Amino acid sequence: MTGPTRPTTRRFWASVSAVDASTSNDASTRVSEVFACCPPGPLEREKRRSTSDTGRTTLRVTRIDSPCMSAILLDVDGVLHVSGRPIPGAAEAVASLREAGHRLRFVTNSTTRSRATLATELRAMSIELEDDEIQTTPRAAARALAGRRVLALTLPAIIDELEGVELVGDSADAVLIGGADEDPDQTGAVFSYLNLARAFAELDTGAELFCLHKNAWWQTGRGPLLDSGAFVAGLEYATGLEATVLGKPSAPFFLAALEALDADPELAWMIGDDIDADIAGAQKHGMKTALVRTGKFRPDAVEDSGVMPDAILSSIADLPDWLERRV
Ligand SMILES: [Mg+2]
Repeated sequence: MTGPTRPTTRRFWASVSAVDASTSNDASTRVSEVFACCPPGPLEREKRRSTSDTGRTTLRVTRIDSPCMSAILLDVDGVLHVSGRPIPGAAEAVASLREAGHRLRFVTNSTTRSRATLATELRAMSIELEDDEIQTTPRAAARALAGRRVLALTLPAIIDELEGVELVGDSADAVLIGGADEDPDQTGAVFSYLNLARAFAELDTGAELFCLHKNAWWQTGRGPLLDSGAFVAGLEYATGLEATVLGKPSAPFFLAALEALDADPELAWMIGDDIDADIAGAQKHGMKTALVRTGKFRPDAVEDSGVMPDAILSSIADLPDWLERRV
């Protein structure tokens, strides 16, 4: 895991400017494709014109290749928006990817909003999507912890997503740590000393430790903010336990997304701004990856990680053309 700021050497990233190294809060203006590689499909497709009942002619794309050739998992925070501010061109890019026949799933480690709220906010940014195209960590937790007694340190906004989980204040058989919010008061209320000490006590008497994610920090409109991975690591340190991560980069999270798209991992792509959770995580499951230079992207973090994405793009706005040029 790499912190948001550290001295730079940029041996590998010789072409990265100082401006990029200190990076803006959303999109860099540079365009860079570092690693040429085989793109996802569709390798073959035919475009057909169809006329709707209203007489309007639209261009439809019918894929005739393998259904596995064009599955794309898109991270949300830092790829489509930063703190609710859309990345320029994100909505158009999503529309272009759909028009080109790619199958999309939005995979997010966001822990501050319900899926319905997230979908509504993305649609307000003109990003077309259905609620059930978004895969969230609270829903992954609901699947993993169904029927169990759980002490949950999570933001109130996602409690309703933990359907089927018995939320308790003591005698828990699992402790669930959620993510931080940009609002320090909300985050402080969830991760108070009292609550962390209560979680420690439950773990000390045999409860299992789970977390929605273990992100160290994330990029906001005000800059990098400490995330709840620090609290997870603290509880691991105190108890000697290792937390089970339910969101990215865990195997079940990626596999659920691939299953939803009926895609083979080696023929699917992950697009993200997090070199660890998005890129390294997806590579571990055999997927192709593209890192965007928006959100929490830091050239030094990429260099230090030793992880090689298949491509690095200025932002998601460049993705449709990048794919198209390689078909
Ligand atoms: Mg992200």
